[in-house]
Amino acid sequence: MSAKLATCGYLSADELAACLPASERMAKGPVAVIECVQDIPCNPCEQACPVHAITVGVPITSLPVLDAAKCIGCGVCIARCPGLAIFVIDGSRPGGEGTVQLPYEAWPLPQPGDAVVALDRRGQRVGDGTVEKVLNATAQDHTAVVTVRVPKELLNTVRAISVEGRAQS
Ligand code: SF4
Ligand code: SF4
Repeated sequence: MSAKLATCGYLSADELAACLPASERMAKGPVAVIECVQDIPCNPCEQACPVHAITVGVPITSLPVLDAAKCIGCGVCIARCPGLAIFVIDGSRPGGEGTVQLPYEAWPLPQPGDAVVALDRRGQRVGDGTVEKVLNATAQDHTAVVTVRVPKELLNTVRAISVEGRAQS
């Protein structure tokens, strides 16, 4: 298990660097970011991906590996991850903003158009965001997926939002 995650609740810089997609891939379109560094018996992300872009393999405690070239950024894996460790970022839009899709388990859910506070992995405010979309299908088992628009330079930083003062990823 990640020592940093165990002691501080967030990943080390080295661990993060291994998870983040190349800037060229980010600019091409939405792509998953899998911030999973625990050797636990878990693989729903692998089973959920419709294009087989995630491999856990054998043993089931192996860390998931993303093939970013295969990933179509559909976001299906986000709500399937019990560790809330998967995000989809999109830096392909023209202009200065992109989007982060993140799992959200607080209530009430934000609504499209809501202004929210953008938080980093430590729950600290790093900027502002605007909610674009909220998916809360029955199949997602109470884990909504919120798409939030943020400045492009924050796509690798924003991993949670705060609505009306509540911090929750
Ligand atoms: S975002 Fe979609 S295509 Fe990409 S890894 Fe997740 S399920 Fe697969
Ligand atoms: S579902 Fe989530 S916690 Fe489980 S292996 Fe995949 S990324 Fe890790």
